Amino acid sequence: MPRPIIVQEECSACGICVDVCPEDVLELVGDVAEPVKDDECTACAACLEECPMGAISEIEED
Ligand code: SF4
Ligand code: SF4
Repeated sequence: MPRPIIVQEECSACGICVDVCPEDVLELVGDVAEPVKDDECTACAACLEECPMGAISEIEED
């Protein structure tokens, strides 16, 4: 399953990745974005491309 890897120290909690994810994988938890439904990630990379902080380092495939 693919999942976005979010570098917590870089996340500004802007919520853009939450809004752009077509599968609603991401949510703001406290002041950081986290994948909460990572079994539904399709590795589209929209979150990675739109993050203004570069906080999503990769879409990990395992
Ligand atoms: S790669 Fe696509 S489906 Fe997966 S969390 Fe990011 S925006 Fe959502
Ligand atoms: S788009 Fe980037 S900075 Fe904004 S909430 Fe998502 S991971 Fe954090």
